[in-house]
Amino acid sequence: MAYKRPDGKRVTRFAPSPTGFMHVGNLRTALYEYLVAKSDDGTFVLRIEDTDQERLVEGAVDVIYQTMKTAGLQHDEGPDLGGEYGPYVQSERLEMYRPYAEQLVREGKAYYCFCSKERLAEVSEQIPGGGYDRHCRDLPQEEIDRLLQEGVPYVIRQKMPIEGSTAFSDLVFGEITVENKELSDQILIKTDGYPTYNFANVIDDHTMGVTHVVRGCEYLSSTPKYNLLYEAFGWEIPQYIHLPLIMGKNEDGSVSKLSKRHGATGFEDLVAAGYLPEAIINYIALLGWAPQDNREIFTLDELSKVFDISGISKSPAVFDYDKLNWFNAEYLRAMTPEQFAQTAAPYFEQAFGKDHGFDLQVLTAMLQQRVTTLNQIPETIGFLAQLPEYDKELFINKKSKTDLTNVPVMLDAVIELVEGMTDWTHDGIHDALIALAQRLEVKNGTIMWPARIAAAGQAVTPGGAVEIFELLGREETLRRLKLGRKKLEEA
Ligand code: GLU
Repeated sequence: MAYKRPDGKRVTRFAPSPTGFMHVGNLRTALYEYLVAKSDDGTFVLRIEDTDQERLVEGAVDVIYQTMKTAGLQHDEGPDLGGEYGPYVQSERLEMYRPYAEQLVREGKAYYCFCSKERLAEVSEQIPGGGYDRHCRDLPQEEIDRLLQEGVPYVIRQKMPIEGSTAFSDLVFGEITVENKELSDQILIKTDGYPTYNFANVIDDHTMGVTHVVRGCEYLSSTPKYNLLYEAFGWEIPQYIHLPLIMGKNEDGSVSKLSKRHGATGFEDLVAAGYLPEAIINYIALLGWAPQDNREIFTLDELSKVFDISGISKSPAVFDYDKLNWFNAEYLRAMTPEQFAQTAAPYFEQAFGKDHGFDLQVLTAMLQQRVTTLNQIPETIGFLAQLPEYDKELFINKKSKTDLTNVPVMLDAVIELVEGMTDWTHDGIHDALIALAQRLEVKNGTIMWPARIAAAGQAVTPGGAVEIFELLGREETLRRLKLGRKKLEEA
């Protein structure tokens, strides 16, 4: 029996377990589910899989909502939005599962297993690779009735075929076959009455009309078990899209499964590290999928149009922080100056405090083409808020032809110039400094270098002397120039 939705479109679901952390891998799964659905005008469902009560983390569901929202992955149905196929939280669906398991018992496809924990531990030691010896599979009915009457706790297990093999075709990994003898009789309902994850997941996917199951390839080996359940019920098996592993680069050049030791791996951590959600999503889209051409920059909307299941690869994808930096820089550069100023505002505030009064346009012009991640901003402009300690040796620069003999002369001239200046604009400052260099018959750099060092207190700065003067204002510029001049007198 097929359980398609009336519109015949694709239905996908993102089914996170609320662990409080959205790993890049989970986010990619969510993104691909979204894209598989949206590229067909289909439905994207959010389902919270919280049946593993021991793993529940307070506030974890909010992390999921927040991440999906920031990433722009708007679901069509879910716990917060409702929908015709709810509830969308597994713990609210608990009473739905048992009748399905009982149905299989009635049909002779599943059975009550009364084996004690101790017995199971003993048997599993004797069977190579662990497992269950199917002791209760063929108990006589009177025995079952007696045990039930006595209130002996039991689980419900599915009768797995003993011979033959189970095969399925994954849209990414191709044909996969397992020998049935390797599958032990799986538990559907536990002694506490809760469904197992494997069981709940199948019932949910079927009753929600999910057509495409997208998930990490660590689930490949469980898929035959899911399929035997679909078959037991006579339900249509969904399409499977298993996604390749995500690896991280190790220092020695090798790769291993992406983990915290490679860097930030949580969506929120990446955002906190100064990456734009749009850039993260764009990069993650390409971790395991490639378009027909070599295009790299896509908005989420554009991805929804061009995404195509056949572009998903089964080879492991490598999460490359340098590449993510490149994407982020591209996104920062592509903003309008107003967007950049707005996005960077919290970082300006971090460097300068509230109501800092620095000119946002000048800051933007100085930084937008320069920074790779947003949190480089505070460290890059910190010198504007506070003049760093520096050494007078910094004034010496071969290329600019400055040394400790000519710098005092240059600084005196700049101080005198600034004291008399009235046009404190970019062009005004620029033209005045250039004219001064001409008057003194020195290279522009011979004026600019010491002027910039005195104003910034560090050799590497975004922007040159002119921008820094402009940002600091005349008074602060003068104060710093004079401090620099004084430093030259020190021993
Ligand atoms: N709750 C599972 C997880 O978070 C989902 C697996 C699936 O998509 O079927 O890994």
